[in-house]
Amino acid sequence: MARPLIQSSSVDLHKSSATTRILRTQVRFLEVDKPHLRFLNLPSCNSTPKLKAWKGPMTLTKEVVDEKEMSAVTEHESNEFTTLKHRFLNFKKDKYLKNLEHYQSLADEQSPKFLVISCADSRVCPSNILGFQPGEAFVVRNIANLVPPYETDPSEVKAALEFSVNTLKVENILVIGHSRCGGIRALMSMDDETNSSFIRSWVINGKAARTSTKAVASNLSFDHQCKHCEKESVNCSLMNLLTYPWIKEKVNKGELVIHGGYYDFVDCSFEKWTLEKNSQVDDQVSIKNREFWS
Ligand SMILES: [Zn+2]
Repeated sequence: MARPLIQSSSVDLHKSSATTRILRTQVRFLEVDKPHLRFLNLPSCNSTPKLKAWKGPMTLTKEVVDEKEMSAVTEHESNEFTTLKHRFLNFKKDKYLKNLEHYQSLADEQSPKFLVISCADSRVCPSNILGFQPGEAFVVRNIANLVPPYETDPSEVKAALEFSVNTLKVENILVIGHSRCGGIRALMSMDDETNSSFIRSWVINGKAARTSTKAVASNLSFDHQCKHCEKESVNCSLMNLLTYPWIKEKVNKGELVIHGGYYDFVDCSFEKWTLEKNSQVDDQVSIKNREFWS
C-alpha cells in the first residue's frame, strides 16, 4: 500500500529544532518524484473502476487505465506540479527562511487585522492584488463575494465571520467585488423559476442587489446592469454584515470597521469605501472615505 505523504513528512517533528526541521523537509520533497508516492487515498464515494485503481498499487492501475492515456495525464500533471514545486521552494528560500523568526511566530498564532471576503474567481486573489502577506488577512472566497444575512442557513461564510470576528478579533472587514464577475452575471440572468442548481442556490443570496439594480438600471445594457450589480452586491453584503448581532455590537463600539472594495481588472483600478454607521439611529448608515486607486 502506498504510504500517505502526510505521515511520511511528520517524522521527528517535535524532537528537532525548528531550523533543522525545516531544512530536513527539503530532502523529503525529493520523494515526490517517486511515482508511488503520488497515490493518495481518495474517498470511496462515487467510486468508479478508475478511481478504485488509484487507491491501489501501480500494477493494478496499469490493468485498469490505458497506459498511453495514463502517461499523458501524468506528464501533464507533472509539468503543472513541477512549476508549483519550484514556486514553493523559491518561497521557502527567498521568504520563509529569510524571515524565519516571523514565520515561526506565525506558526504559534495568527492575529490578522483584516477579514477579506472576495470572489473565488481566479483573477482576483486579494493577496495578489493588495499584497497581503501571511498572517495579515483571514480570507474567505466564494462565488460573487456574497455575505448572506444572519437569518439564513449555516454556511462557511458565517463560520468564518464568527471565528475571525469573535476569536481572532479582526479590526476590519473588507468585501471586494470585481469586474466581469460570472457569479453576478448568473445572479442577474437567472429567471424566477425554481430550476435548482448549486450556483443558483448560492447567488440568490444577492437577490436584493439584483432587485435594486433592476429598479435603477433597467434602461442600461445587460453588461452595464451587471457592472452596477457588482458594486451594489458589495453594499448589500456590507448591510448584511450588520444583521449579525456581534458584528453590529463591535461596529457600534468602534472595535470593528466595515469596508467595501471593487477591483476592475479591465483597467486595473481599485475603489475603496468605508461604511459609517450611526450608533444612535439603528438603521442609518452612510459611506465615507471613498477612494479610487488607479
Ligand atoms: Zn466573481
